[in-house]
Amino acid sequence: MKPSFDREEFTDHVLHFILSNPTAPYRESAVLAAIDTFAKDRRKNIQLQIDRAGNRIFSVRGRRGGARKPTIAFTAHLDHPGLVPGPDGKWELLGRVWPSARLANEKICYFKKNGEPAGRGTIIKVNETGGRVLTALSRGEGAPSPGEFAMFDFPPLEYDGDRIVGRVCDDLLGAISILVAIEEAIHTNHSCSFMAAFTRAEETGFVGALAMLKNRSIPAKLPIVGLECSAARGGNAVIGDGPIVRVGDRIATFDPEVTAFLRDCAESIKKDDPKFQYQRRLMQGGACESTAYQLDGRRAGALCLALGNYHNVPDPDPEDITTGLAPEFVSKSDLDGLIRVIVRAVADSARLADPWRSTRRGLADRLRDHGPRLREIQ
Ligand SMILES: [Zn+2]
Repeated sequence: MKPSFDREEFTDHVLHFILSNPTAPYRESAVLAAIDTFAKDRRKNIQLQIDRAGNRIFSVRGRRGGARKPTIAFTAHLDHPGLVPGPDGKWELLGRVWPSARLANEKICYFKKNGEPAGRGTIIKVNETGGRVLTALSRGEGAPSPGEFAMFDFPPLEYDGDRIVGRVCDDLLGAISILVAIEEAIHTNHSCSFMAAFTRAEETGFVGALAMLKNRSIPAKLPIVGLECSAARGGNAVIGDGPIVRVGDRIATFDPEVTAFLRDCAESIKKDDPKFQYQRRLMQGGACESTAYQLDGRRAGALCLALGNYHNVPDPDPEDITTGLAPEFVSKSDLDGLIRVIVRAVADSARLADPWRSTRRGLADRLRDHGPRLREIQ
């Protein structure tokens, strides 16, 4: 008998496995190592490619996936706003945390390049100059070493009812949703064939994703779905009301066909399980990699989790600098729903050839059934 897949248990395992790793733009070593381990532990099903930028790209195949071409790709980024020394050695905030004055007096944790803890400290001074946010830091024990970085000092993972609370949700939760979906697809969909990419340095302007596009690491024709955590307040989304089919971001609206396909996936889950809920929203709190994919001429769509305390800025008023910083949070049931949508998208990816088919047929039926009434008057 084939072993059954326990999504909840496996999600808990991956949450601990991934969120325990510190990360910042250009300092993703620890979480990249975890991603590599995940792939190597499943080498029969995952072929791991590391591109020149250090992005991790998986080709995933079920037992009978064989030589089938991949049908869809999912991506998530592995970094989060943090403090990193610039080329001039000055400690700089990479990623947007605003207004930056709120950083003063906040506690930080230092890490070595490989993610080992290297002491604690405090942000003493913040200075915005020439487009950079420079910070003066106090340090506890330990001396700076090459490749070192700092994160805001919050626990990596805590559960609070339905909430997953952590120093980083954006976007390790996106990565986690893909990893759990991969495991579920391998167990339950033996003929699946799809790709997943884990990118670097999104918070400094999609730098890893742009390099990935340049390297042609993912076939140009493959529809690509970006997974994100996006500020709930930026899209009238409700944390706990289900995963989000993200129709666009602050810059662009995404491919209507891929978006229709993702909505159909969510609808078909709902048909089987009326308790399942999802949201369809324009999430304008930030821009995401799907915009970069789309501008590269790809068919891009997006899914996301509604995020609380986006970039560690406490809700509800990001302008109130007296609130300092706080851990981010998402809903556990939203995460579960998001994983289900990804798994369904893999299973139904053949429908991407013509996602409007059933809607088009419905409209034709309507004209056939109701059109004659137009002749009642003329
Ligand atoms: Zn993000």
